[in-house]
Amino acid sequence: MALVPRISFEIFPPKTPQGDAALDVTLEQLAPLRPAFLSVTYGADGSGQERTVRLVERLNDAGLPLAAHLTCVGATRDEVDDLARIWRDMGIKRIVALRGDVPGGGPWRPHADGYSRAAALVAGLCRVAPFDIAVAAYPEPHPDSPTPAADIENLKAKQDAGAATAITQYCFETEAILRFRDRAAAAGVTMEIVPGILPIVDFARTVAFSRRCGAGIPDWLCAQFEGLEGDAETSAMVAASVAVEQCHTLISEGFRHFHFYTMNKAPLSYAVCRRLGVHPALPEAA
Ligand SMILES: Cc1cc2nc3c(=O)[nH]c(=O)nc-3n(C[C@H](O)[C@H](O)[C@H](O)COP(=O)(O)OP(=O)(O)OC[C@H]3O[C@@H](n4cnc5c(N)ncnc54)[C@H](O)[C@@H]3O)c2cc1C
Repeated sequence: MALVPRISFEIFPPKTPQGDAALDVTLEQLAPLRPAFLSVTYGADGSGQERTVRLVERLNDAGLPLAAHLTCVGATRDEVDDLARIWRDMGIKRIVALRGDVPGGGPWRPHADGYSRAAALVAGLCRVAPFDIAVAAYPEPHPDSPTPAADIENLKAKQDAGAATAITQYCFETEAILRFRDRAAAAGVTMEIVPGILPIVDFARTVAFSRRCGAGIPDWLCAQFEGLEGDAETSAMVAASVAVEQCHTLISEGFRHFHFYTMNKAPLSYAVCRRLGVHPALPEAA
């Protein structure tokens, strides 16, 4: 029998009432797949952070399994710890601990009284509560990394500080994920590495975003989407098959959990999960 992987989904707090409605539809379709958790991203500014807090509260009240993202950019250690205590008191057990980026771009600058980087944040969160902490990992090194080896050392530092899982940035070159996994293991990283999978909802936007976050867009992927601008239906079929193929290869290489970047749109992630054998829970018999 084919092995069915564990899955989780990343969603973000919408900015408009239409976005709220779209997220409700997304959750209606994805929640029955019984993800290990839904992770809620943390905004880069004050209003974005309030939206995260409100969404985490709402979904937590609805009984959904959550992982709340938390960044340390632009905040003091006390402010970050206060929010972690709020999550703790709400019963949130999982946190995705991230450094964040300086709003508007530019080199990383920690707050004068803030956590210096994600590893320090993880250590601080562990002092607040025994959270189950996930951190970010980068199969194609992070743009701030002086060398690929330094990037892996930084990941090991996050593990040493108390992280239990690493979720990767999306990476279309599956071979790069495999090499990264092997280099991380050789450097003593023993925590589970969960590949982040991006089913491509909009290829042009994916290309633009990838430039900013350091993820590569391979030529073979460009060729797959070439000429499909304006053809949403075919693009979606191509995107689903690319993601399914990547997951199948990763399963054959021993990966057992995938984290889907849903972009608050269910259909592609839902279709890919179905192809991996993840089916919705059947309603309980009366
Ligand atoms: C799964 C995932 C979820 C995310 N969710 C969010 C979110 O909700 N909100 C948000 O704003 N952003 C989010 N991000 C983006 C993230 O904040 C950025 O990628 C940020 O630039 C780095 O965050 P980090 O936690 O990886 O930082 P860190 O691990 O602190 O460092 C980032 C990189 O800097 C380099 N570095 C740092 N310190 C050292 C050191 N001492 N020595 C050598 N190299 C060092 C390393 O290359 C390292 O990989 C997410 C990213 C991922 C992959």
